[in-house]
Amino acid sequence: MDCLREIEGKQAHDPMFIEKMNKSSKPRCIMVPGPVIVGAGPSGLATAACLKEKGVPSVVLERSNCIASLWQLKTYNRLRLHLPKQFCELPLMGFPSDFPTYPTKQQFVDYLEAYARRFDIRPRFNETVSQAEYDDKLKFWRVRSSDLKGKKVEYVCWWLVVATGENAEAMVPAIEGRAEFDGDIRHTSSYKSGEEFRGKKVLVVGCGNSGMEVCLDLCNHNARPSLVVRDTVHVLPREMLGRSTFGLSMWLLRWLPMRLVDRFLLIVSWLMLGDTARFGLDRPRLGPLELKNLSGKTPVLDVGTLAKIKSGDIKVCPSIKRLKRYAVEFENGKTENFDAIILATGYKSNVPSWLKETNMFSEKDGYPRKPFPNGWKGECGLYAVGFTKRGLLGTSMDAKRIAEDIERCWKAEAKQGQR
Ligand SMILES: Cc1cc2nc3c(=O)[nH]c(=O)nc-3n(C[C@H](O)[C@H](O)[C@H](O)COP(=O)(O)OP(=O)(O)OC[C@H]3O[C@@H](n4cnc5c(N)ncnc54)[C@H](O)[C@@H]3O)c2cc1C
Repeated sequence: MDCLREIEGKQAHDPMFIEKMNKSSKPRCIMVPGPVIVGAGPSGLATAACLKEKGVPSVVLERSNCIASLWQLKTYNRLRLHLPKQFCELPLMGFPSDFPTYPTKQQFVDYLEAYARRFDIRPRFNETVSQAEYDDKLKFWRVRSSDLKGKKVEYVCWWLVVATGENAEAMVPAIEGRAEFDGDIRHTSSYKSGEEFRGKKVLVVGCGNSGMEVCLDLCNHNARPSLVVRDTVHVLPREMLGRSTFGLSMWLLRWLPMRLVDRFLLIVSWLMLGDTARFGLDRPRLGPLELKNLSGKTPVLDVGTLAKIKSGDIKVCPSIKRLKRYAVEFENGKTENFDAIILATGYKSNVPSWLKETNMFSEKDGYPRKPFPNGWKGECGLYAVGFTKRGLLGTSMDAKRIAEDIERCWKAEAKQGQR
């Protein structure tokens, strides 16, 4: 590390080198003594804070112009945390006690801003990482980024932490006849409020938490939403027996096997919500927790949408066959007019597009190949935070483990005098 830093230092003062660099399109090279963290969402911030606490400095690169860009720029206004705040706090700093059980999106962003301030985390904004690969000869990671003007930088580091998230890019399905549809089609990442759809007929595609909530929001703004349900889905009340369904499940899992807890959740849900299949929402064969564990598919925590489906304010529709000018033809042969379509079709990881490594991360889905809880660590100083399909709880676990692991190497190197 020392010799590289020395070369870098000499280069910085060498006029011939500077002139050459200015002429060539080669990126500027920056040596980073600690880890480079890609992404300034909750996962990147949590890892940087845990490292800081252990005396390890890091560089955080963020493609957007703010922290937590998913929350600030790509979520709808009515969003609140889906889980109670005690399951969503990052390591080393809890939520303020006066926050409600389910903080609003703005409160969550305020919390993250305060978190970044407290640990003095200053991400380098507007830097998109376009490539990262391990240099086998030098035994370093080379992380290339470019800013809005196309200026390129290469960061050279021993440790690389991938914190770009499970929701890096919107998943947009190919729908036959899409080009023919003359109404508004957008992904939920660009939906803010039902206000602009007042009085309009809107088709929401996808019945996860986002699709259900967008439907409710549309109803509350006097739009006329319909919901495409292509798959089976578990809808659970957000609270049961006076406690959050999530908290209660975690507590029961301490004493009972998962299948029994699933049975319990389904019985209470049936008592509280009725038979959801009657309203077009068939339940999967596996229970909600077992399904989440095996496939990562999250149950919907109902915040009022089901009542609107029961009352007929939200209509349930089958899969789309094709789109026409202002109409949608469904798989059951029926055609209906719509003014707009909102795709609540989820997100995907973007890791395969920039990380030139295939041992730790799968090229297929951009997730670590090793299942939870072992996906956080790869070879040669490569780490992943926030890819557990377990939300912010998973993020906290990963961040703490990564910081402990890097601290060990950091201290060992300091002892050997390599830094
Ligand atoms: C609508 C919605 C509600 C949710 N509610 C909850 C909840 O209540 N509780 C919960 O636990 N989880 C919830 N989640 C899950 C959510 O993904 C996590 O809470 C959290 O945002 C994950 O943090 P992250 O840092 O891993 O990813 P993100 O928040 O997605 O942050 C990743 C960051 O990496 C940046 N980035 C991506 N690619 C690059 C690149 N190439 N170069 C540089 N930067 C890059 C992005 O711009 C982004 O800022 C929700 C998700 C959604 C979509």
